[in-house]
Amino acid sequence: MYAKSFIAHDGNKRLTGATTAQLYPYDRYTCHLCGSSLIFHPEWDTNRPWFEHTREDLTENGRHHCPYVRPEPKEVRRIHMLRRYVPDVLPIVRKADWYCLECNSHYHGERYCLSCHTGDHSIEVTAN
Ligand SMILES: [Zn+2]
Ligand SMILES: [Zn+2]
Repeated sequence: MYAKSFIAHDGNKRLTGATTAQLYPYDRYTCHLCGSSLIFHPEWDTNRPWFEHTREDLTENGRHHCPYVRPEPKEVRRIHMLRRYVPDVLPIVRKADWYCLECNSHYHGERYCLSCHTGDHSIEVTAN
């Protein structure tokens, strides 16, 4: 069960949002974190476009470290509950402030440090 992503790198390695992709589609999208090829779902009906990781196109890093491929256990439990009512609902990746112990760096977004290419050494920084 992979999470929905709403941003990706387009064929020119530029960061693009799913809404932009809906208007100006590229032939190829990759995950901005793990570099796996993504499938774009324009979702014309609901107008809530998104990108999908697929098992076949995962990079080695994505398989082990991408937060979209490995959603938080808490979120996975929430989705299992929700599915009783909304069968095709997918997890969402939480964005927060993180601190990577390995790289000694603060960052905001998904739990994935762009320096060491994993979220394993990152801890959440809370306001108090
Ligand atoms: Zn990814
Ligand atoms: Zn790091």
